[in-house]
Amino acid sequence: MKALSLQRDSAITLSVLREAVSRFVGERKWEKFHSPKNIAESICIEASELLEIFQWRTTEESRALSRNPKNAKRVSQELADVIIYCLALANAIQMDMSDAVLSKLRENSRRYPITRCKGTAPRRRNHGGRKT
Ligand SMILES: [Mg+2]
Repeated sequence: MKALSLQRDSAITLSVLREAVSRFVGERKWEKFHSPKNIAESICIEASELLEIFQWRTTEESRALSRNPKNAKRVSQELADVIIYCLALANAIQMDMSDAVLSKLRENSRRYPITRCKGTAPRRRNHGGRKT
């Protein structure tokens, strides 16, 4: 895997991105459309657009796809759409995303301990029908 250039990711905080999304929505007076339901639906729609880029491709083709600048741009745009709506949902319900992500990673670490899961694909355990 090539070294990632994450200069912008290192410099820009999550709260800066949240504020940018909030400003974009507010300037257009779109808050009234940003119910949690509508935004959650939009996350799924944008995730589907991302998935469509990889539809019918083999695993190797999917890995190679982003080496083409045109495809890389499509992937980055759809991934950005997903993230923008995730940030919009966090704004709409006033959720601390850092807290949520770190908390979920801790939970996942307990659920998938390294000693049991290293190098194997994670499998869903029975959680009484609750999906998390
Ligand atoms: Mg899109």
